[in-house]
Amino acid sequence: MSTVPSHSELRDAVRALCAQFPDEYHREVDAKRAYPEAFVDALTQAGWMAALIPQEYGGSGLGLTEASVIMEEINRSGGNSGACHGQMYNMGTLLRHGSEQQKRRYLPKIAGGELRLQSMGVTEPSTGTDTTKIRTTAVKKGDRYVVNGQKVWISRVQHSDLMILLARTTPLAEVAKKSEGLSIFIVDLHHAVEHGMTVRPIANMVNHETNELFFENLEIPAENLIGREGQGFRYILDGLNAERTLIAAECIGDGRWFIDRVTAYVKDRVVFGRPIGQNQGVQFPIAEAHIEVEAADLMRFEACRLFDAHQPCGAQANMAKYLAAKASWEAANACIQFHGGYGFACEYDVERKFRETRLYQVAPISTNLILSYVAEHVLGLPRSF
Ligand SMILES: Cc1cc2nc3c(=O)[nH]c(=O)nc-3n(C[C@H](O)[C@H](O)[C@H](O)COP(=O)(O)OP(=O)(O)OC[C@H]3O[C@@H](n4cnc5c(N)ncnc54)[C@H](O)[C@@H]3O)c2cc1C
Repeated sequence: MSTVPSHSELRDAVRALCAQFPDEYHREVDAKRAYPEAFVDALTQAGWMAALIPQEYGGSGLGLTEASVIMEEINRSGGNSGACHGQMYNMGTLLRHGSEQQKRRYLPKIAGGELRLQSMGVTEPSTGTDTTKIRTTAVKKGDRYVVNGQKVWISRVQHSDLMILLARTTPLAEVAKKSEGLSIFIVDLHHAVEHGMTVRPIANMVNHETNELFFENLEIPAENLIGREGQGFRYILDGLNAERTLIAAECIGDGRWFIDRVTAYVKDRVVFGRPIGQNQGVQFPIAEAHIEVEAADLMRFEACRLFDAHQPCGAQANMAKYLAAKASWEAANACIQFHGGYGFACEYDVERKFRETRLYQVAPISTNLILSYVAEHVLGLPRSF
């Protein structure tokens, strides 16, 4: 793609692809707890998963703004970007901080669909959100790093070839700042499962392939270190702003899906001799959710604009994620409520989307932690932890 497509061109093209995967497809994949392989393959083949990869590495070289429109349309169509969004922001980490050699080795294959970089291993069971306290270590021995430890909630590992792993390379007691001494690595997942990494799937509320990972003397070639040793926390944070902004866009897609569905339903459903949508008790929660989705959308585009201009966007990315996750949840509640009993029937797809959008109040960052970020970093309130 030599010129940047307009948003409406992008939307039309992604919608046309998504239309080949109707509600029944997503419903069946959900019921089987399967991976939407055909859907992700189609998105990859059409080049949408390589939107952020520069053209010189085989991608389309678009910005976060365009990537966010793609993710939004997937969710708005009734699908769930959670099956594939990892690729979008993980390759950003490689792109911004990887060596030229690493970029040449991986990015063209990711762009062409030969390799998937869908996973990022950060969260640990004993430390949770307190990321700088992670206990997984990577100790340098000659030309390798030896990894020991445990991760939890690591998504798409069984449907990815590569993972970005955060591990401590200098003990916490030996660093001046707790955010130092952490490093990130590219892990070849196929090699890892046969050489010291155990994958234990976690059954969960949504059809989201996520796992516990156990590392026992897993050896990673030293050349798989991304950027400088000890600077990994900073690199991960960079990627998190992209992740939060893209997930905000997905929530906006969900929110619009819920509002479209509930609006159509309440116009049609007649109780007490009139459409239920004629009652203001029904109209107001839907109107309120619509207002919140539209407001969140403005903040998402502001976060995208700053990110694409290489300007600081931590506040906007966090606020966009907060507003959009809240708005999609309000829209989900209105949608299920006004479908009455039918909201709980799988064939209406509302209960599935309801479960899917609930996740974003907790992951990839919980609402409380965003409020804490804004209180401390935007408003200058005293640090609470
Ligand atoms: C389906 C799913 C997929 C995921 N995928 C990935 C993945 O691919 N890679 C990855 O690394 N992680 C992943 N995660 C992990 C996710 O990022 C974490 O679950 C999330 O960041 C919260 O961490 P925690 O579960 O340890 O909760 P905790 O840190 O234990 O927090 C629990 C609750 O307490 C609140 N809380 C904690 N501390 C404070 C405080 N100081 N002030 C106020 N409130 C506080 C939090 O807001 C939260 O609501 C995934 C999680 C889920 C559920």
